[in-house]
Amino acid sequence: MAEYPSEYELDVVLRDGGGARVRPIKPEDAGLIIDFFETLGPESRYFRFFRIKETLRPDEVAFFTQVDYSDRMALIALLDGKMIAVARYDREAHDASAAEVAFAVADQHQGRGLGTQLLQLLTNHARSHGIERFRAYVLPENRQMMRLFRNSGYELTRTIDDGVFTVDFPVAESEGQLEAEAEREKRAVAASLLPLFFPRSVAVIGASGDPSSIGGKLFRNILSTSFTGPLYPVNPKAKVINSVRAYPTILDVPDEVDLAFIVVPQRFVIDVASQCAEAGVRGIVVISAGFSEVGPEGADLEHQLLEVVRNSGMRMVGPNCMGLLNTASSVQLNGTFAPVYPPAGNVAMLSQSGALGITILDFATRNNIGISQFVSVGNKADVSGNDLILAWEDDPQTDVITLYLESFGNPKRFSRIARRIGRRKPIIAVKSGRTSSGSRAASSHTGALASSEVAVQALFRQSGVIRVDSIEELFSTANLLANQPIPRGNRVGIVTNAGGPGILAADALEGNGLTLPELSPQLQAEIGELLPKEASTRNPIDLIASGGPAEFHHAVSLLLESGEVDSVIVIYVPTSPEGAQDVADALSGCQEGYDGVVALLSVFMHSGDTARHLAGGPGRRAIPTYMFPEAAALALARAVGHGVWRLRDPGFEGRLETGDEAAIRAIVDAALEKVPATGAWMEPEQVDAILTAAGLRVPRSTVARSPEEAIAAAKAIGGPVVVKVISESALHKSDVGGVVLGVEGKDQVRVAYETVTKAVFDADGVLIQEFVGGGHEVLIGMTQDPNFGPLVGFGLGGVYVELLHDVVFRIHPLTDVDASEMIRETKGFRLLQGFRNTAEGDVAELERALLRVSGLISIVPELMEMDLNPVKVLPPGEGVVVVDARIRIQPVPDARHPRMRDLPGVT
Ligand code: ADP
Ligand code: MG
Repeated sequence: MAEYPSEYELDVVLRDGGGARVRPIKPEDAGLIIDFFETLGPESRYFRFFRIKETLRPDEVAFFTQVDYSDRMALIALLDGKMIAVARYDREAHDASAAEVAFAVADQHQGRGLGTQLLQLLTNHARSHGIERFRAYVLPENRQMMRLFRNSGYELTRTIDDGVFTVDFPVAESEGQLEAEAEREKRAVAASLLPLFFPRSVAVIGASGDPSSIGGKLFRNILSTSFTGPLYPVNPKAKVINSVRAYPTILDVPDEVDLAFIVVPQRFVIDVASQCAEAGVRGIVVISAGFSEVGPEGADLEHQLLEVVRNSGMRMVGPNCMGLLNTASSVQLNGTFAPVYPPAGNVAMLSQSGALGITILDFATRNNIGISQFVSVGNKADVSGNDLILAWEDDPQTDVITLYLESFGNPKRFSRIARRIGRRKPIIAVKSGRTSSGSRAASSHTGALASSEVAVQALFRQSGVIRVDSIEELFSTANLLANQPIPRGNRVGIVTNAGGPGILAADALEGNGLTLPELSPQLQAEIGELLPKEASTRNPIDLIASGGPAEFHHAVSLLLESGEVDSVIVIYVPTSPEGAQDVADALSGCQEGYDGVVALLSVFMHSGDTARHLAGGPGRRAIPTYMFPEAAALALARAVGHGVWRLRDPGFEGRLETGDEAAIRAIVDAALEKVPATGAWMEPEQVDAILTAAGLRVPRSTVARSPEEAIAAAKAIGGPVVVKVISESALHKSDVGGVVLGVEGKDQVRVAYETVTKAVFDADGVLIQEFVGGGHEVLIGMTQDPNFGPLVGFGLGGVYVELLHDVVFRIHPLTDVDASEMIRETKGFRLLQGFRNTAEGDVAELERALLRVSGLISIVPELMEMDLNPVKVLPPGEGVVVVDARIRIQPVPDARHPRMRDLPGVT
């Protein structure tokens, strides 16, 4: 019997936003099963057993609870400790690659997507146990069940026999099924967060009349914006708070409460949360602190709190947070204790830091940046950043998503979600801790070069997230993307009334990879029509100091319509007291009815408030404004970069052929038999065999354990050879004199053998290798990051790679686009293109090699570290050769198993 698969103990979120706990069935669940059967109505029983069934016999109960988690597996769903659904499979006796599935869902929980969610988990389990196909028998009138199978996204075949449908489908992952899962996840998560953001009624537990307390501030804030539903203060010590009748506990509130804010001392939080569950509250925001942020004891409490939340199917923001707000006019919920309430708008914000959250709201308010929803996520015990992004994906109020992050809960999931959403709504993030050098103990080049910073960088890059360095930049970029179109290219037109700032802007733009194209003579002539001859119609267009609202309006309108630029930056230096406002109004005029694709930004170089004049209105976009040209240039560069990412082909993932996969698995599985739990470096022969099976070229080579063997091997290979010591201790063989190149003839081989074996204390013979002449030396490597999974690195420089640090990383898996970009991002790329007197390299084959490495990683999760250093890149058409490779593997329990918490819908 297989071990109880505890990784299948998890929480899921359902179509209607409710939650349930899922776990594998256990022998001691007889009582649960019997109670569950009692709750099934006659129709449900008939559908499940194909006959009228009154009771479950003891032998049937035993049969249902006796599973071996391999040939027989069952998952049950629980709510408030009661079983509400079960899904099971039994492997077919005559065909080990097939299994029969069956479901039962309690009557009052049908239609909530429970069965679909259980099926997803069950197929996952089946897949990792060698099951390829599921079969189910369904009565034709059981529409629910047919819908469940259709919703799953699997390719169904259906036959009817004797009045019963037989539904068959392969359980392998498919695009349709992955898409269906992602869609289901998005809807379920968004629905589960509705009571938090769109509550029909709100309670504040720990509300207070004291305006200096947190409970007092929060309560007043909610009152202050006229929340559209009823508001109930809860406080056992007060009858009335701010003229509102108070209740001693949530259970005393004579109304259904969707959302409760909890602002009570830490020791009361769990009891209060349990009362909320009892009262049917659907979402809680725990402001109280003193949980995982204070140490292990607090973490323990947080865990208990989460148990209460999950058992009841509620959702929770926090603990240790400053609340949330929603400016939608249908809600108007100011649920934070911050002193400001930002203007309504289309930017959603998440802050992992409470203190910075207050600053962020203040900054947004001062800069007139409209916020749709704001959440301070605190310890993220339940609701995570990923959940919020999912909810904002389809939120009609939100066009831009901004994140202040300190850590990633689940980077894999973030990447999967962000990649999709970023194509519709830009995601901008500040990730703090950028400078911390999170280096890890590593015994490979790649491991030493990778850091968590590198991983974060790669994650953002691959998922199209716009990374900024400060909160100021977060807003300056958000302001642009929230109001103006994403530029289609990097051509910028500048219109200014002062030469100096124009030049500053031009420099800043070019420094950020943008260009100032020369304008056509015709356009210049048109622009010039309204200008004195001292003005310049070349880009930057300098209207000179006499340039006022009319001149700006004229030049900007022409540029917007010209098709010669992708964005326009207006720079105004005030020349009269009311000049700025007049020019701002003129620019707003240019936006009147303009729905083209050119982005318009403004720089008003003064301390006055022009934002009001640049605000949008019906049929008119707001124009972002900046104090200095550099800030505008940077924001614009980020928007342009994001536009490029959106338009780029997502590419295809590197995968190996099925035949190669089998060969590689055979080699790895054989090697693993001798590898201790702590892992080991593979033998040179095994390394060569794996690389060859993955389609990578290695030089001919032979292991020799005596000078005579070495001579024979060299002769067999022919031509000059390389002699390398085989040694556990020598990480860099050439550093200790363990490599001799270009060895020819008996005598030289003998001498080389002696030299290299004496260079180390633990020589285990030598490798005689074909000498590969010429080519560029590059590094391809991989290392495991504890949070991000495998990282793949590419760099130029061979033995100097650490010195030059010219290495680019991506998170596995790589697409062809990633591979191409990685190579081109290195500074040394020019060498591969044939720089000065160096030869050109076979870049196409190098890209393929990177994809093959990625394919290899996909099928060998046991890969811990790999250094292919150097890989020799020969001239175009001649390919690449891996002349030195080290691979470390380590047994991974149930390696083919995806991490359960990465699956869609699992919270
Ligand atoms: P280590 O990295 O342990 O020092 P390598 O096997 O990478 O040892 O060898 C060191 C250097 O020798 C390589 O960077 C490469 O320049 C050169 N070299 C190694 N093997 C070959 C080969 N088969 N053909 C040509 N040059 C080689
Ligand atoms: Mg090497």
